[in-house]
Amino acid sequence: MTKTVIIGGSHAAIAAAAKLRQLNADMEIVIISEEGFLPYQRPPLSKAYMAGVMPIERLCLKPAQWFEKQRIGLQLNAQVTSIDPDKKQLQLASGGWQSYDKLLLATGATARCLPADIGGHLPNVRTMRNLSDANWLIDNMQADKNLIVIGGGYIGLEAAAEAAKKGLNVTIIEAADRILKRVACAETSDEFRRLHQQKNVRILENTQLLKIIEENGIACDVRLSSGEVIALDFIVVGIGVTANVELAQNAGIKTLNGIIVDEYCRTSHADIYAAGDCVSLPFDQQPTRLESVQNAHDQGAIAAANILGNEIVYNPKPWFWSDQFEIKLQIAGLNRGYDAVIVKHGKREGAVSHYYFAQQKLIAVDSLNDPATYAMVRKALEANVVIEQEMVMLADFDIREKVKTLMAG
Ligand SMILES: Cc1cc2nc3c(=O)[nH]c(=O)nc-3n(C[C@H](O)[C@H](O)[C@H](O)COP(=O)(O)OP(=O)(O)OC[C@H]3O[C@@H](n4cnc5c(N)ncnc54)[C@H](O)[C@@H]3O)c2cc1C
Repeated sequence: MTKTVIIGGSHAAIAAAAKLRQLNADMEIVIISEEGFLPYQRPPLSKAYMAGVMPIERLCLKPAQWFEKQRIGLQLNAQVTSIDPDKKQLQLASGGWQSYDKLLLATGATARCLPADIGGHLPNVRTMRNLSDANWLIDNMQADKNLIVIGGGYIGLEAAAEAAKKGLNVTIIEAADRILKRVACAETSDEFRRLHQQKNVRILENTQLLKIIEENGIACDVRLSSGEVIALDFIVVGIGVTANVELAQNAGIKTLNGIIVDEYCRTSHADIYAAGDCVSLPFDQQPTRLESVQNAHDQGAIAAANILGNEIVYNPKPWFWSDQFEIKLQIAGLNRGYDAVIVKHGKREGAVSHYYFAQQKLIAVDSLNDPATYAMVRKALEANVVIEQEMVMLADFDIREKVKTLMAG
């Protein structure tokens, strides 16, 4: 009986294990996860779980019985420390080891921390990546406390929104000239800035954190490039992630800023595959890292099918979402390289979508409370239907009608 071992116990790992079992009733499947919890969904950590409206049981990707029923060995609190690709063995931190026939690296990513020399090591300076981080933050989110959020990306903004809803005084510090600059157009930034400001979240753009000032071993103020000093109870750091590549690197597997895979999710080493946030994959002929549930799930499942001898190309169809206050943002496509944005209001009150174009062709959309537009654009992009910029510019443009017509023809 062949054995596949999966390192990592999150979205990519569970999608892969489920697909392996679906396609092969006999294979031995083992998941090794360094976390101590049953595999869980990460997105709600800064949304419904943080808001207290999603209980822990619903956070889990699968109930404990699922692993038993599917005969998937789940090792929790188990960290893999090295891979020997020649012997096909893994070393564990506990001193034990595991053999494998096929290996899937689903090691994900780690939140970037602030350097210790500006105070990033202090106990009330936290990142937001895992359940322990979320639980710590929830325990500390009491009304009237002062929260500083470093970084105006999606995770920072979501944490800020949840904290503001609980009555904390929230300030977001963003070094770039606008929040969401790395991931969205100015129109989307403007919508979220307006929203947060309406809810009394203070947003300081073009502002650098110079120093976290410490008192009795905890952070108590931040000093900013503007000269301002702000008092705080705790800090959430949301300045991006780095792919967990060290295991692969030390085993001689090729990495760049992620574990390099081909379109079949194969690494540079025979019988070793990788999927999810840890990966650098070819997308539009460019090495690309995608940090989303869509990517982890779809790539994990395709890696699993290919582990079983198929040759299925993984061609990502990105989608993403973010919930902040009363806005649900849904993104279809990848806006990389966009050169134009068109704003269109949807049929529902308050619904708006920002269409991204590259060389006159639609490549992505940010839909704010506009699920109908999101769904149609996603459908069109998944079907490789070309939507020209000039079509969208027309005053009577109707995405639903257009996609229907184009798909029929
Ligand atoms: C707060 C938050 C909100 C998010 N919101 C959204 C959203 O709204 N929409 C969206 O699409 N995406 C969102 N994301 C991103 C999404 O959660 C990730 O893209 C997804 O979790 C990636 O899954 P993964 O399985 O590749 O890796 P990860 O989820 O990073 O999991 C990797 C796992 O491997 C473990 N591991 C690493 N090394 C070892 C080792 N040596 N031994 C054993 N175990 C190891 C890690 O501890 C971890 O448990 C969010 C992420 C966060 C943190």
